[in-house]
Amino acid sequence: MQHEENGPTSGFSTKAIHAGEARQKLGDSITDPIFAASTYTFTDSQAVIDFIEQGHPREEYGRYGNPTEKVAEQKLAALEGAEAGLLYASGMAAIVGLLMAKLNAGDEVVFFDECYHRSREFCAKHLSRFGVVTRQVKTGDYEAMESAITPATKLLVSESPTNPHLSIVDLQRFAELGRRHGVETLIDATLATPFNSQPIAAGVDYVLHSATKYLGGHNDLLAGVLLSSEERLEPVRNLRGILGAVISPQTIQLLLRGLKTFELRIERHNENGLRVAQFLAEHPRVEQVYYPGLPSHPYHELACRTMRGFGGLVTFLLRDADWRATADVVDAARIPRIGPSLGGAESLIEQPLVMSYYECTPEDRQAFGIPDNMIRMACGLENADDLIADLAQALDR
Ligand SMILES: *Cc1c(COP(=O)(O)O)cnc(C)c1O
Repeated sequence: MQHEENGPTSGFSTKAIHAGEARQKLGDSITDPIFAASTYTFTDSQAVIDFIEQGHPREEYGRYGNPTEKVAEQKLAALEGAEAGLLYASGMAAIVGLLMAKLNAGDEVVFFDECYHRSREFCAKHLSRFGVVTRQVKTGDYEAMESAITPATKLLVSESPTNPHLSIVDLQRFAELGRRHGVETLIDATLATPFNSQPIAAGVDYVLHSATKYLGGHNDLLAGVLLSSEERLEPVRNLRGILGAVISPQTIQLLLRGLKTFELRIERHNENGLRVAQFLAEHPRVEQVYYPGLPSHPYHELACRTMRGFGGLVTFLLRDADWRATADVVDAARIPRIGPSLGGAESLIEQPLVMSYYECTPEDRQAFGIPDNMIRMACGLENADDLIADLAQALDR
């Protein structure tokens, strides 16, 4: 299938709507069709031989890709300013796919410590079984990261912003550190999205998004994407076809549909996040708010310099509240539903102690920076006035 750029594509929404798509599509349809095929057929034996010998671009078998997937990958690459993209069944499948493709026994990975807990778990509990060593250093401590690099180090990993503390990584400094030591770099930019930050332009080698969150945007799909150069992704693409954590054509269609409104949605998430954070910062029952858009945030200046917006996630601590009093505020909210995840139309609220860290020891929770009085709110697309009024009644009870 031919994919041509569809006229001028400088604006973010223009890219989100048109990039990666052929102007004239199968069946003269304006949207890309779903190819619900597990396999793709050849006209005759010579066509199979030509495909193998000359690598004609076409489909072969569903596990190796499908036409709708290529559209979505090109669209996401255009949004990120990357050469190529690689879709997966989930964000975790994408990070596991990258780490498995790039690391060998004896290799080392260095992480900033405020990383997604399942990524940390995969490295510490599972990559270690294959002889890969994981080192963690404090988020934002670039000297510690540099000291942790050895001749065996193959990858530096961080999230930015981090979850739930919303720390921001200086992407240029992070990328430069990797380049100086000949080590590749990966940023999980799920919380930023390609709208709010551009790690590839800053020199980062790989960007990961859980497309389950803002990119899909409707709390109705699971997907993950890796973005990088074609050359860097080639071995990762080959392993994806073997690991088999592939996304279904129907899910890709939901993702493509979500992406059409991506800029409109992220602007609203940014606005709601900022308004809610400003409200909370003024509330007498709130001890501290973590939101990079607030001047009180330790990374505010870096965030203003490097980000277009600060996202919909707001974390805060209640003043003089034990875990039960904190849970009471969560339970009193009427608009946000209680649940993990973020980035969808529906706001979500949760107490990290209960939702993600309940089975940790108190010592581990302290090490991860998860106090009992912490609440995380993922602002959706509702009206900010309603979200604020709802939080006000929950806090004033
Ligand atoms: C949700 C999330 C992931 C995992 O993505 P899934 O699509 O749930 O597998 C990874 N990183 C971050 C920052 C996330 O928020």
